[in-house]
Amino acid sequence: MRTSKIEPCVDCGKKLPRKELNRLRRCPDCARKKMLDTATQLYQRSGPEYDHWKEACKAAVQKL
Ligand SMILES: [Zn+2]
Repeated sequence: MRTSKIEPCVDCGKKLPRKELNRLRRCPDCARKKMLDTATQLYQRSGPEYDHWKEACKAAVQKL
């Protein structure tokens, strides 16, 4: 019996088996889009993803 659960992608709502969504519950298409979006913001050094990344970096540095 198959138990793979179908869940919607948090971004586009496309329904996929849970194992095909990433840990943030995005489908592969949205995950790629999100990754490109984040990369663009890091490159431009502005935007909410850049701020988030900056904070994560600071936190990582403090742990050393
Ligand atoms: Zn999606």
